[in-house]
Amino acid sequence: MKIAVFSAKPYDQQFLTQANQKFGHQLHFFETHLHEQTVEMVDGFEAVCAFSNDNLNRFVMKKLAEKGVRIVALRCAGYNNVDLDAAKDFDITVLHVPAYSPYAVAEHTVGLILALNRKFHKAYNRVKEGNFTLDGLLGFDLHGKTVGVIGTGRIGCVTAQILNKGFGCRVLAFDPSPSIMYEEHGVHYVDLPELFSHADIITLHCPLTLQTHHLINDEAIDQMKPGVMLINTSRGGVIDTKSVIRGLKTKKIGALGLDVYEEETDIFFEDFSNTGISDDVFARLLTFPNVLITAHQAFFTQEAMQNIAYSTLSNLTEIEQGIGCTDQILLVST
Ligand code: NAD
Repeated sequence: MKIAVFSAKPYDQQFLTQANQKFGHQLHFFETHLHEQTVEMVDGFEAVCAFSNDNLNRFVMKKLAEKGVRIVALRCAGYNNVDLDAAKDFDITVLHVPAYSPYAVAEHTVGLILALNRKFHKAYNRVKEGNFTLDGLLGFDLHGKTVGVIGTGRIGCVTAQILNKGFGCRVLAFDPSPSIMYEEHGVHYVDLPELFSHADIITLHCPLTLQTHHLINDEAIDQMKPGVMLINTSRGGVIDTKSVIRGLKTKKIGALGLDVYEEETDIFFEDFSNTGISDDVFARLLTFPNVLITAHQAFFTQEAMQNIAYSTLSNLTEIEQGIGCTDQILLVST
């Protein structure tokens, strides 16, 4: 199958090319994002392969259909950047990779918690500069602390287990579809106000939907414990960034760890070290010493990249051969 691969960084090209030895698709790599201005590039392709920062809105979907593209294969789990109604209207099948490695994201989440708590980001710079003092580096024992997990799907569940079994944390969780099974693994489901008011650390693992958009806003932050640590490795839009900045300024939020940002599309995965960034809200976040931001790298492990590349190409092969995909990976069937 002839596939246009968008937002293709060198590492994407490496893993996809490697996996493609088994499938033999014709892969054409474009470093640019897929959006309204670049959709013209898909002439002659049967499928496009896109990532979380590509914008597959109704306009793009219509153009894709007009140009003969029948399949969109996302090489990520989240699909909030895809207009699924439009996909249906224009008869485009959308695939994603729901479960490439929940461990990658869960372990990164715990990494952010540990780094913020024990101030690794500050300690690293200090020691490099020959400053071996400890003032300002005081942390707390994770053991016995209460963690609030919002969204107990694949990633939320692994995160809860690491924190409960590995660190001895008490885990409170909120999910509109709670799983009895997780109760047996030390997860106690509560409503959101209870989670907000009891958790020392809150970590977000829900998808970005109309219901979860700005779930963490002024009202939610008001209900949280003073000095709460907030972690977001799900999607940027789950947090109202301006509210969180207010929470940091009043010290209601004691630490913030982000792997995602609501306006990340024009920032993440690019190098602005020579030019600076023009997003003032993001720039303000960077000024807080108790904020640690990684640029959407939680998924970025060897295992996850191999699984993503293999699953994406294997899904496309199944569709090509008319086998169809399993329910897990088919969002819209044509
Ligand atoms: P999943 O579908 O297995 O789990 C999501 C869970 O969220 C489900 O249990 C669902 O019931 C729950 N949920 C839905 N609406 C909710 C709400 N209003 N409040 C609380 N919970 C709600 O997904 P997953 O594989 O665990 O991934 C979770 C999210 O993590 C994805 O949607 C994606 O956006 C994000 N993600 C980020 C990265 C990264 O690199 N940072 C990588 C993969 C996934």
